[in-house]
Amino acid sequence: MTASLAPSGKRIRDRCDALARCSEETAALTRVFLSKEQRAANELTLAWMREAGMSARIDAIGNVVGRYEADVAGAPCLMLGSHLDTVRNAGKYDGMLGVVAAIDCVHTLNARGTRLPFAIEVVGFADEEGVRFGATLLGSRALAGTFDPKLLDSRDGEGMSMREALTAFGLDPVRIVQAARTRADVLAYAELHIEQGPVLEAEGLPVGVVTAINGANRFVIEIEGLAGHAGTVPMALRRDALAAAAECVLAIESRCGREPDLVGTVGRLEAAPGATNVIPGHSRFTIDLRAPRDEQRRQAAVDIQAAVASICARRKVRVGIRQTHEGKTAACAPWLQDQIGQAIEAEGLPVRRLPSGAGHDGMAIIDLADIGMLFVRCEGGISHNPLEAITLEDAELSARVFLRFIEHFKPAA
Ligand SMILES: [Zn+2]
Repeated sequence: MTASLAPSGKRIRDRCDALARCSEETAALTRVFLSKEQRAANELTLAWMREAGMSARIDAIGNVVGRYEADVAGAPCLMLGSHLDTVRNAGKYDGMLGVVAAIDCVHTLNARGTRLPFAIEVVGFADEEGVRFGATLLGSRALAGTFDPKLLDSRDGEGMSMREALTAFGLDPVRIVQAARTRADVLAYAELHIEQGPVLEAEGLPVGVVTAINGANRFVIEIEGLAGHAGTVPMALRRDALAAAAECVLAIESRCGREPDLVGTVGRLEAAPGATNVIPGHSRFTIDLRAPRDEQRRQAAVDIQAAVASICARRKVRVGIRQTHEGKTAACAPWLQDQIGQAIEAEGLPVRRLPSGAGHDGMAIIDLADIGMLFVRCEGGISHNPLEAITLEDAELSARVFLRFIEHFKPAA
C-alpha cells in the first residue's frame, strides 16, 4: 500500500502546525471567532478539503463545511468534525486534530477511488471555546439550529457586537438560520479529539471510545461567620468561616472520590478580611461538579449541598448556596460507541470506554443527530496549554481507526 492510500501522521501533524501559525500572537496560539486569523485557518482548511476531493464552503456562521459525495449524489451524510477556534495561549491539537484527521480520512478514500453509500461531511466549527463573546459552541449550535439570536447583541472585549463582527467577516447575521441542518441530512456525528486528560496515557492506550460528554453543575458558596481577634477568642467559641469552608472542601473531595467518573473541584477559595491576626469572618468558594450520568451528578449535587449545610450548621456559620450553571450530559449513542469500538478492535487494540470531562461540539450537535467520539492520547493529559502534544504514531493510528469506522459505518436501523 502506498503512503497516499492511508492516513498520514506526518501530514496530519504538519497541518496542525500550519493551523497553529494562524494566530493573533507570534509567540503563542490564540485564534478566536470571526478574526482575521480564523479567516486564514478557514482558507487553509478549504484548500485541504478540496484537495481531498470535497466540495467546500463557509456557512452562514463561519464554519468550514466540506462534502464528499456518496456513490449516489445528494445522499444523507455521516458528519465528522471538530473546532478551529482556540483558547488563549492554546495547544495545537485541541479541535484542529479532529478536523485535519477527518480530512485525511477523506483524502485516503478519494485516493483509493472509494465512494460510500452515504456522503461524508467534515466541519471545522468556527467557535467552540467561546473566548471572544463568552458564549460557547456558536458554530455547532448554528449548525444544529439552536443558535440563540439574542447572542448577536453580545459584545467582545473591544465593545464590538457579534452582529458587527459577523458583518465585518463578510457574513450576514440574519442568514445564520441558513447554517442549520436537518435530521434527514445527517445520519450521525463523529468527532476525533485529544483526550485532554491523563487516563489513556496512564493505561498505555493510544485511543478510547467516549461514553458521554459529562454534564456539570457549578455553585458559588458564601459563608458568613464572625471575624474576631486571633489571640483572644478561644477555639471552642469561634465561628471561623474559612475553617468551615475547608471542611466543606474536604467533604466534596470525599463524596466525589467514592464513585468512579464523578469529579468535583473547588477551584477558588477566598477569605476575608484576610489578615494574619484575624479569624476569617467571611469565605466564598466555587464548586464544579461533573459526571457522565445525570442522575449520578444530581444525586452528588444534592448530597454535597446537604453536607455543606450540615457542616455550616454545626459550626454556627450562615451559608448561602447558589447554583450558577447546570448543563446536562450529552450521551454518546451506544450504537456509535460499538462501531467505534469495533474499529479499535480491528487495529488489534483493547477497547477502553471513558467519559469526557471536557465539553465538545457534540453537546450542541446532539440536538441534530446521534453523536460518537474517539479520544486520542495526549502527552501528560495536558491541554489548553502550549505544551499540548501527541505522537506522530498516535496521530496516524487514530486516523486509521477513524477511517475504519467511516468505511464500516452503518446508520442506525
Ligand atoms: Zn476541543
